[in-house]
Amino acid sequence: MKVLDLQCPHDHRFEGWFASADDFESQLSRKLVECPICGATEVSRLPSAPRLNLSKATSAPSDKAPANASELQAHVMRALREVLEKTENVGDRFAEEARRIHYNEAPARSIRGVTTPEDARALVEEGIDVMPLPVPAALKEPLQ
Ligand SMILES: [Zn+2]
Repeated sequence: MKVLDLQCPHDHRFEGWFASADDFESQLSRKLVECPICGATEVSRLPSAPRLNLSKATSAPSDKAPANASELQAHVMRALREVLEKTENVGDRFAEEARRIHYNEAPARSIRGVTTPEDARALVEEGIDVMPLPVPAALKEPLQ
């Protein structure tokens, strides 16, 4: 199983699970890979795993809603839950921890947490990849 970091033309980043890189290419060419947020099928592969930044300041993307909104919502919830299960929650130490990983002072891993928009900007300026990810409050409780 291969986990790929993907991005749609609207800059939504998400993970896709594939049997192999070839499997991804094949599904992509048949337009079976779509953005869980907006449904776009022109998906491209990102080179490395982004760190997750669950900023409180982020709002959901304002793309127009797809025909079946509730199905999409369920899909997004599942994807988010997967992300939550696969990342280490560092809470409000996010900026500090992201820097430590970036400068090899801590083991490389996917982390998530909360930071201020100012801190997130500073991290990006330092070349640290962060991804804002809106998480419904309902998902946070049982997992932390
Ligand atoms: Zn998208």
